[in-house]
Amino acid sequence: MKVIVITSGGMDSTVLAHWHRSQGDTVSALAIDYGQRHRQELFFAAKQAEKLGVPFTQVDLRSLKQVLRGSSQTDDSVAVPHGHYAEENMKVTVVPNRNMILLSVALAQAISLKFDVVSYAAHAGDHAIYPDCRPEFVDAMNGAAKLCDWQHVEIVRPFIHKTKADIVRIGHAIGVDFAKTYSCYEGTQSHCGRCGTCVERKEAFEHAEVFDPTFYTDARPSSEVLASLAQKS
Ligand SMILES: [Zn+2]
Repeated sequence: MKVIVITSGGMDSTVLAHWHRSQGDTVSALAIDYGQRHRQELFFAAKQAEKLGVPFTQVDLRSLKQVLRGSSQTDDSVAVPHGHYAEENMKVTVVPNRNMILLSVALAQAISLKFDVVSYAAHAGDHAIYPDCRPEFVDAMNGAAKLCDWQHVEIVRPFIHKTKADIVRIGHAIGVDFAKTYSCYEGTQSHCGRCGTCVERKEAFEHAEVFDPTFYTDARPSSEVLASLAQKS
């Protein structure tokens, strides 16, 4: 298969790109700058593509930020919440219609390069607070993908039945350097260790029983971080 892999520089999409290569697929990595607070991830997306030896495209959509209000990730006036992803306060991290934007750009590149597939790293742990992670959304996007051009491009999610811990195990088995991935929603140089993505990242390594090479400002285990945040609130 010839696959456009939507990469963010985070763990899941990095493992996905490496996994497609391990399957013998032709991979082209695509990252999108939509003005995200955690833009440091883009640096790691480029580094990982370089390491894999695959083409890397970064699309500059920074001006989108002006229409992505109300999300902690694209609106500087909204603080990044700390705690567990599944909590109600994490809804402010939802970027309006992000997946449709990313998939639309990836479909355009797939059509222009005559690639068969767009792949992205949705997984079983994607939370109900993210409406554009629902299977119905992807089904509808696949329907639109069939109609947006004469060339057929399929959207796939190889990790949809995998947990984040499974993804760590897969990445570990195929030699992914997790130290060169970035997840933190704060966008700080070191991972904060307290935001939803940091807590989830810690949990994934803990559950997978794989060494976590990440430097966290708050390096306590996820359960201790969550307990101390619960005490404060
Ligand atoms: Zn963080």
